[in-house]
Amino acid sequence: MPQANPLLSIVVPCYNEEEGLRECHSRLTSALDALCASQYEVIYINDGSRDGTGEILRSLHAASACTRVVMLSRNFGHQAAVTAGLTTARGQSVVMIDADLQDPPELIGEMLELWRQGFEVVYGVRESRAGEGRFKLWSARVFYRLINRLSDVEIPLDSGDFRLLDRRAVESLLSMPERHRLLRGMSSWIGFRQIGLKYARAPRFAGSTKYPLRKMLNLALDGIFSFSTVPLRLVTLLGLVTAGMAAAGILYSLVVRIFTTHWVAGWATLILAVLLMGGVEMLCFGILGEYIGRIYTEIKQRPLFLVREVLEPGAPSSLDRRELQKHLDPVV
Ligand code: UDP
Ligand code: MG
Repeated sequence: MPQANPLLSIVVPCYNEEEGLRECHSRLTSALDALCASQYEVIYINDGSRDGTGEILRSLHAASACTRVVMLSRNFGHQAAVTAGLTTARGQSVVMIDADLQDPPELIGEMLELWRQGFEVVYGVRESRAGEGRFKLWSARVFYRLINRLSDVEIPLDSGDFRLLDRRAVESLLSMPERHRLLRGMSSWIGFRQIGLKYARAPRFAGSTKYPLRKMLNLALDGIFSFSTVPLRLVTLLGLVTAGMAAAGILYSLVVRIFTTHWVAGWATLILAVLLMGGVEMLCFGILGEYIGRIYTEIKQRPLFLVREVLEPGAPSSLDRRELQKHLDPVV
């Protein structure tokens, strides 16, 4: 049950966002100030940026009493950075938002309203996406549809990571220790009362996307292989079909060998069969490899992220690193 004046946490992952960060902070804080109803903390996670993001975050921290900055030891990726933010968030409700102003901070008020009505997860649904290339739009469409076909959880179409989570939802996410994280899938998996909120996604305010094709592909593969074992079943099915075909082929060649005289088989048929089988087998190994690779990274039990430094709200200097690692124990 929401308290009278509950704390709201905003989690903002930043990777090389120097061009737009100040604007992001001022739009975010003015949207939050306009809400009046809530106290808030803004948590920036510097995900191993190589540009001036770290310095800008230091100055934002120095200038504002409600800003916490978490510096990770290197680039751990968007999903790990958001998880780092969730770990330090203390609010009764937590909003995850990108630093590039593609998701309007002004929507947070509506999200809070729905949260007050009792929804534990309020996720943004992109009704339109200005300023994004054809390929990105097309690949996102394919991604959401494919993942919903294959996986047990229904990830709402066109929802991203821009969402509000109730404390219970945050705790649930943090209790999921997996290394390959697709937070939008996980926050759909946890259940609770969920609702979508439609909005128009703006173009990036500044800078360029930090999701090149490689990272996008990784995210998509995580979505599929972390939420579904259907590909494994497909391998079995494929095995059954090819075994059936092989049995028929053996039978056929025996019949030809025994009952006819023209039994010299064609070379082309043979080579085609060998190549096809080779290809199918490799594909199956690849699919098995995806799961085995994931088991391997899970079993190593490495932390999801490592923290170099935290600048606490209102604190003049940063906490000692060891002190901080104590209360920032990454998801266990
Ligand atoms: N981001 C991050 N670590 C990364 C990649 C991205 O923290 O390795 C942050 C980035 O700074 C931004 C958010 O994640 O705040 C979303 O990234 P981006 O806007 O590049 O993704 P897109 O909107 O193009 O899908
Ligand atoms: Mg973006």
